[in-house]
This record gives sequence, structure tokens and C-alpha cells, in this order.
Amino acid sequence: MYSKNKIDSFVKNAPILEDIIKAKPVAWLNPDLQSMQNVPKFSITMEDMREAELLWKRFAPFFVKAFPETEKSQGILESPLREISKMKSLLNRTNEEIEGRLFLKCDHELPIAGSIKARGGFFEIMKYAEKLALDAGLLKKEDDYSTLTSPKFKEFFSTHKIGVGSTGNLGLSIGFISAKLGFEVTVYVSSDAKKWKKDLLREKGVRVVEFEGDFSKAIFAGREATKSDPTAYFVDDEDSQDLFLGYTVGALRIAQQLEEQHIKVDANHPLFVYSPCGVGGSPGGTAFGLKQIYRDHVHCFFVEPTHCPAVLTGLVTGEMSKISVQDIGLDNKTEADGLAVGRPSNFATKISKHLISGIFTIEDEHLFKLLTQLKDTENIFLEPSATAGLIAPQLVQKSGYAKTHELNMKNATHIAWATGGLLVPEHERELFYERGCEQVSIS
Ligand SMILES: *Cc1c(COP(=O)(O)O)cnc(C)c1O
Repeated sequence: MYSKNKIDSFVKNAPILEDIIKAKPVAWLNPDLQSMQNVPKFSITMEDMREAELLWKRFAPFFVKAFPETEKSQGILESPLREISKMKSLLNRTNEEIEGRLFLKCDHELPIAGSIKARGGFFEIMKYAEKLALDAGLLKKEDDYSTLTSPKFKEFFSTHKIGVGSTGNLGLSIGFISAKLGFEVTVYVSSDAKKWKKDLLREKGVRVVEFEGDFSKAIFAGREATKSDPTAYFVDDEDSQDLFLGYTVGALRIAQQLEEQHIKVDANHPLFVYSPCGVGGSPGGTAFGLKQIYRDHVHCFFVEPTHCPAVLTGLVTGEMSKISVQDIGLDNKTEADGLAVGRPSNFATKISKHLISGIFTIEDEHLFKLLTQLKDTENIFLEPSATAGLIAPQLVQKSGYAKTHELNMKNATHIAWATGGLLVPEHERELFYERGCEQVSIS
């Protein structure tokens, strides 16, 4: 698609691309980062975030009834924000010292889906289901939504189909909630998707269709199959406003948690948030939300695998979602399931362009090392994708970003967003941990 000349001209404009093409770890600071005063108007607003939060509230009684594990939180799906000082001390033994406090946003503990996809994926299906039921005159917004678990609604939703293309967590989240509501749901996966994920989906009554070859083929085939059916709805990870909106609510919740823990965010107390990035929807949505709340006092960074820097490639070349990592010669292969993405989200990337402070890339072996270190220090298990953010605090320190922006790092709060891990079976956990042990011992 892109000629060699074209790629060469991208490299000339942005020399960092040379290292990106060689799959070397890079630290990129975003030249298009703008102060919140100057950012263009986006198609979604703070008001949309508040409305999204209300939709979650309406569905709380549904969750309590349909998923008893959400009873203790009254049907609100949220995860703790935990300080990880032992991990910070361990990291500080090598490389730059992290100044300020280090926290983990524990979305690997989110109920049901066990990953950050419980925010975006669930939200998109809830919004769709609500609209169908409202339009059919079966539901009013004032109703107690536990009624959605009744046979009448199951029957109603069973006449509607949902499709999604996903190698992992998105498929799990869309599959679980859609099947519970009664939809006929199909998850399109690449044939190399983890067996335990496919088994789990089938167990819950989800149809799983496998495709040979790359994951993008699965998305493409899923999209075609779903769109050819007028009664079917496709969740499009590569261009979804509703997924994005679901993620923004995470920002409102973090703000509340920071307040509860008496942690200040202002000109003298910078907040840093580090998110593992696949298509850029979850990190983009939370960054958007945090920027609405904390404006220029929050600094959002993404972390991508060296072999699949989809958002980074889109932003550095300026081609956004038109370009894929395969176009610059990368193989898009990583053990980090959630981040194995060749092309960024069209919707999210346009927004992130002006809001994020930078992107770092990380090698797979480093993900495993962080996984083992976090388990050893804090007794917290994450899936490999979810550890990516932990590489960032030291890279920020090293990058000179704080100096340019005149930030008081002594007062900084760092949050690494832990995006998944709860559902990983014990056997896989052990393999991941052991792989990390090798890395810990050689360094
Ligand atoms: C999906 C996912 C991400 C990245 O989210 P995107 O919206 O694809 O950027 C990160 N970590 C995990 C565990 C995920 O499942």
C-alpha cells in the first residue's frame, strides 16, 4: 500500500520511525500535545461522560441480579486504586529514580470480564440493549433494570444478533454480557486465539467463529458477516464511539478515588497516567476523561509493544488509522494479547493526537519481567499486556518531559493502569511467571 519512497519520506520527517521500524524500544514525546485551552472541539463532551455514568447506574440492578458477584458493590463495576510502594522500590534499584508515589489502577480485578473491556465493551452493549428496549416500548428509563433478566426480555433480545472481532478480552466482555441479556452473539477470532478463551465463551453460550491468519482478517470477516444481516449489530473496535465513551467513565471514578485518598492534582501536584495501548480506545477514552477533569495537570502516556506500535505509527506518520504496522514492515506479533493490534482506532486516534503526552514501546520480555516483579513484590498477578504501563514512570523521568513542562516531580502521582488478568487460568499464570523469572535473573 505504501511505496518504499513514501515510507522513506515518513522517516525523513520523523527520524524516530527508523527505530520503530526496527522494532526497537522508543520513547516518543508528542509534538502535537496541546494545552486544554487550545484543543479543538471533540464530538464527545463532559456531558456525554456524565450521561454514560447514568447509564451505568440504571443498569446496576441488572448486574446485581444477573451477576451475583457484583452484589457487594451494588451492581457498580469498579476496581481499586492501590499504592504499590514495594514495586516502586524495586524499580528504583535500577535506572532512573521514580519521584512521587506509584499506584496501580486494578482493572484486572473488574468483575465478570476481568479486564478494562468491562468498561467499554459492556457499555456499548448496554447502550444498544437499552435503545432496542426503549424503542420497542418495553422499557422506561425510570424502571428497575433488574427486569431485563426476565424471560420476556431474553426472548426479545434473542431476536437480535451481535457480532465482534477479537482475539481476547473484547470478545470475552461482549460475549458474556450479550449472552446474559439473551442476544445471539458471535465472536470472530483468529485461529491462534487462546484455547481457554474460546472454551470459556462457548461455555457461556457464545458462538465462536475462527479464521485462519491474522487477527485483522477475523475483524474484517466478522464485520462483513455481521453487516450483511440487517438484524445484527457489529461492535467495531477499530472505530467505535460507544466503546470510547464507556472507557471515559473510568476517569470519573479515578477522580473520586483520588479524592477519597486525599491525593491532590493541581499545578504543583502533577498526575501521570500510563496505559497499555492496543487500538487506543481504552487508553484514549480514559485520557480524554482525565483531561476533561484535570486539564493540563494530568499527563497521559500510552505504552505499546515494539512489534505492534499501531497508534504510534499512525501519529508519527500523520496517517492515523490509514496506516498499519505491517505497512512499515513489522510483523504485529506479541504475547501481549490485548495489544496485538496492527491498526489504530480511527475515532480514538483523532482525539488522542492532541491530548496525550507521549508513547513508549516495550519488548515482550520486559512485559514478563514486570509481571514477575509485580507478583514478587505486591503479590498481584496481571496478564502480560497489563504490565506495560509499569515501564513508563522511569522513562518519563529520563525523557526530560518534567523539565520542559516545569513539573514538581516530588509531588507527582503516577498511576499505571493494570488492564487485565483475572480470568487467566492458573496453568498459564505459572508459565508467564516463569518466563519473567528468567528475565529477572539475567538482569
Ligand atoms: C484491550 C486491552 C488493552 C488495550 O485497549 P485498546 O482499546 O485496544 O487500546 C490493554 N490491555 C488489555 C489487557 C486489553 O485487553
